[in-house]
Amino acid sequence: MSEKETSSAEKFEFKAEMKALLHLLIHSLYTHQDIFLRELISNASDALNRVQFESLTNPELFQADLERKIVISGDAQARTLSITDTGTGMTRSDLVERIGTVASSGTMDFLKQLTEAGKPIDGQMIGQFGVGFYSAFMVADRITIESRSVDEESGAWKWESDGAGSFTVEQIERESRGTTVTLHLKEDALSFAEPWRQKEIIRKYSNFVDFPIYVEDKQVNTVDALWQKNKTEISDEELVEFYRFVTNSFDEPLGHLLLHIEGRVDFRAILFIPGKAPQNMYREDFEYGVHLYSSNIFIQDDCKSLLPDYLRFVKGVVDTEDLPLNISREITQNSPVMAKTRKILTGKILGMLKEWALDDPDLYNTFFTEFGPLFKSGLGSDVGNLEEITELIRYESTTTEPGEKTSLSAYVDRMQPEQEKIYFLLGSDRTSAAANPNLEYFKKNEIEVLLLIDPVDIFTVSSLTKYKDHDIISVEKADIKADGDKPDDSNVVSEKDASLLIERFKSILGDRVEDVIISKRLVDSAVTLVSGNAGMDAQMERMMRMMDESYSGAAKILEVNMDHPLLHNLAAFRKDPSQAEVVERAVVQLFEGVQLLEGVLESPTDFIERMTRLMVAATAPEKKEESSDDS
Ligand code: ADP
Repeated sequence: MSEKETSSAEKFEFKAEMKALLHLLIHSLYTHQDIFLRELISNASDALNRVQFESLTNPELFQADLERKIVISGDAQARTLSITDTGTGMTRSDLVERIGTVASSGTMDFLKQLTEAGKPIDGQMIGQFGVGFYSAFMVADRITIESRSVDEESGAWKWESDGAGSFTVEQIERESRGTTVTLHLKEDALSFAEPWRQKEIIRKYSNFVDFPIYVEDKQVNTVDALWQKNKTEISDEELVEFYRFVTNSFDEPLGHLLLHIEGRVDFRAILFIPGKAPQNMYREDFEYGVHLYSSNIFIQDDCKSLLPDYLRFVKGVVDTEDLPLNISREITQNSPVMAKTRKILTGKILGMLKEWALDDPDLYNTFFTEFGPLFKSGLGSDVGNLEEITELIRYESTTTEPGEKTSLSAYVDRMQPEQEKIYFLLGSDRTSAAANPNLEYFKKNEIEVLLLIDPVDIFTVSSLTKYKDHDIISVEKADIKADGDKPDDSNVVSEKDASLLIERFKSILGDRVEDVIISKRLVDSAVTLVSGNAGMDAQMERMMRMMDESYSGAAKILEVNMDHPLLHNLAAFRKDPSQAEVVERAVVQLFEGVQLLEGVLESPTDFIERMTRLMVAATAPEKKEESSDDS
């Protein structure tokens, strides 16, 4: 930040990325222009929450008796709109540092990605990031902030900017603690100076703010805590409104829970499963959406200890009377009250999902499509609820239509009479998974195989070892029994020839494979790779390679289909020394061909070159080859 002294006001340049962000916001946010007021009210409410919280432990607080409120006033003549709060206020350095920079560094990256991808930025996203204040530049060509901090010694300050490239800060006279944000409205935004317009927006977005909001000396919002009401007193409209308030969104929730728990811990809660997964759900800086209150007093808005990580998409409010009022964040994290509350909340949410799965499969599928990938991570992290979570997991399978999913319990109902185990195949997408040669045996025997094609499955499937009495195993590790029907005798390679050919495979491939064996699982394909007992699935190996370039996976077992015509030919060629080179090329080609299928082939160049040579040999006119030397 560069600083230039003038007689009274100091001038600061916004950082380059800040300028870019402002530009982006002002020019991309066409929809929901009125959310700027929600953002400013929410900042005011945060500042009031902080004062309220501090006053619990500090009776000496500066101007402790000031009524905690938000006042909105417009002046159509002067074309201004101002929002005043009696919250914590800001010191000079707060104004310079907090208002001049974007809170989260991830925000810029994400917004940039969106615009580069040509996606519009809408109000929904603004709520997810810390760019709230700046949205006011959509409707204002100049903004002033006048503020006096709860830190009594720091005096009063004025911040001013036209949102273009710089801002100024100067000292002012101001008696009252708190902040006044004044917008100098743009020509096309003059309606925001009108009380009816302000009231309309407050009722729409800010009805549940914890402090009174006044327009023309009249309180506009409800303030009553919705969660303190009894179930029967809460209307569906109120719930949707409250959902939109806590999530800063415009959609409707998939469902909700109203809880009033009495017993080992006492608390009330309103929880929502959002209608859509937020785009930043997997980002590290994703904010948890359960707000913690203690006896109606706001404590914390991103309370991580109330829900396990895999349920972090759940939004709402938890109000407990069991926490001491002067708690700090550290205490909330380690408190046994929180641990008990979390356990109950988790159980209730899983219970609701189970109900959906049984009574309303369409609703449950919508939930799983939106949140399934995150939800599945609970398999590894919530051992206590492993059974419940396993019951709720859905996968595609060789029996489902593409895009449709099955539960494990439905899979078990469809199992073959003799089948004991549940089989899965890891893959990168449905089409390539369904074409995997390792499925041939299962297809032929009508054994269903789960297709785990979501990228997170690789990480979570290792936690999924059993369902009811059935082991869950990869098709690569399936122990396959030979079945009776052999092809007709004329084509069968003698046992001796087969074992000699296998020896040749081994000597050609060397330590690129752990072993070469005759396959019982293949039907149409010539060869396939499977993992030995200690080995990893092909997909798992692919992921290891992606994460660590130097990783060279454990050697795998090559299975050879002796019933395949190519293998019959190779068995014959093996006896002819003049064909040694062709046999060698064909063996390497077969091996690298499966590697290619599995996405682990290292040198496509060699592969293609070898293929070309084989084709040259195959297409050479036989007679000529015999009579000429230049082949
Ligand atoms: P966010 O609110 O998401 O952090 P903003 O850009 O809206 O992002 O605000 C940046 C910071 O400025 C806030 O985190 C807060 O510290 C401070 N701030 C904004 N408005 C107020 C206010 N009315 N009173 C006190 N502090 C405020």
